[in-house]
Amino acid sequence: MASNQSPLQIADQRFLLHPFTNHEDLHDQGTQIIVSGSGVFVEDARGRRLLDGLAGLWCVNVGHGRSEIIDAVASQMRGIAFYPSFFNTTTEPPIRLAARLAEIAPLRINRTFFSNSGSEANETALKMIRAYWVLKKQPRRTKIFSRDFSYHGVTLATTSMTGLPTCNEPFNLPLPDFLFAPAPYVYAADRCSDGEAYGRECIAATARMIEEAGPENIAAFFVEPIQGAGGVIPPPPGYLTALRALCREHQILFVADEVITGFGRLGDMLASNLWDLDPDIITLAKGLTSGYLPLGATMISEELWEAIVSGGYFAHGFTYSGHPVTCAAALANLDIIERDGLVPRVKSNIGPYFQEKLRSFAGHPAVGDVRGVNLIGALELLPRGGKEARTANSTLGMKAAALVREEGSIVRGIRDIIALAPPLVISRDEVDQLFETVGTALDRLWE
Ligand code: PLP
Repeated sequence: MASNQSPLQIADQRFLLHPFTNHEDLHDQGTQIIVSGSGVFVEDARGRRLLDGLAGLWCVNVGHGRSEIIDAVASQMRGIAFYPSFFNTTTEPPIRLAARLAEIAPLRINRTFFSNSGSEANETALKMIRAYWVLKKQPRRTKIFSRDFSYHGVTLATTSMTGLPTCNEPFNLPLPDFLFAPAPYVYAADRCSDGEAYGRECIAATARMIEEAGPENIAAFFVEPIQGAGGVIPPPPGYLTALRALCREHQILFVADEVITGFGRLGDMLASNLWDLDPDIITLAKGLTSGYLPLGATMISEELWEAIVSGGYFAHGFTYSGHPVTCAAALANLDIIERDGLVPRVKSNIGPYFQEKLRSFAGHPAVGDVRGVNLIGALELLPRGGKEARTANSTLGMKAAALVREEGSIVRGIRDIIALAPPLVISRDEVDQLFETVGTALDRLWE
């Protein structure tokens, strides 16, 4: 344990369990305690200002410290801080928010069920899907497809459809009936550098897997339009359209997990609209409140809605489903996104600028691949020996993220990758500053 730790850091070590953390490392280094934030910057307990290049955890879309959201939350709390939506009752904000989301979603998706997180939004989707197929008299449809490198959450079932062995193997998961199709991760595939061709290969392999599993046994396919936590994997051209068609051909429900892609990061409110995915279900969280309060949402098509209503009593819900305060935060957040024109700004101004800066690393000796769309991006890093010298458990991304932090910005390390997803309010100067810190860190990577 480092000797210069503060009383709060020592208390942290004694009492707090952290998510997705190696506690031995953390106790060694001391936890980093963030105390305030404004715009794209956060400040830690030592008074160090850091540029938040990951928007918290891909979520603080409107930036830190927005008084409009804080005021909306306080005002709602003064009215009614909590009343449930169970048993034919509710409060005003969830109704207003559900109506607002219906305006944003594709035409045939109008109904929203609220929860508290992305995991719960996906878990809710899974239960609705099972209920749907029972009501449709096809109860054998229980198998769930997702893809390698996908991330869908941490409950038993959502971990089971997360295609990352580091997430599911320690817990003796996945559960039976969760299947993983190949991800269109062109760089990792090695043998193929043509994205479109590799996308077609993935679709062909997925079609074979569907045949093997028996389409009549498959309930749904969960898809992150851009795979985020698995390493920022954008779809090659044509891939998502082909995957959607494959699901439609076999009557497999198509779920767009838009927990990261929702609310502006790609230059559209939803990737489902941007790429015309026509999903049966959309799951949302993160950017829905810009992380100011925890909120998840499961949006379903009219067809699913009609089936579920025909089933009578719907025995699912969290105490805090449709919490008035979190929904009030979401409404204020959506007001900011719309009023400040953040989405068109991402699409035609700051998103392309961010990508231009990101892509300028393509020739860097420590960079093997550069990818992303608008305000999400990743650099795939190389050891000194190049791509062949990589090892299965290599963690160059963590090393690089630590160096970037020393230089004054926060990015995320994933395997050999650093991932970036700053708040949508980031300015051009701040993008420059972010990539300056990344550049200096990468020049130090092989030291
Ligand atoms: N789905 C996706 C695509 C995510 O990126 C995440 C979280 O990163 C989740 C689901 C789970 O959300 P939560 O951590 O809010 O449970």
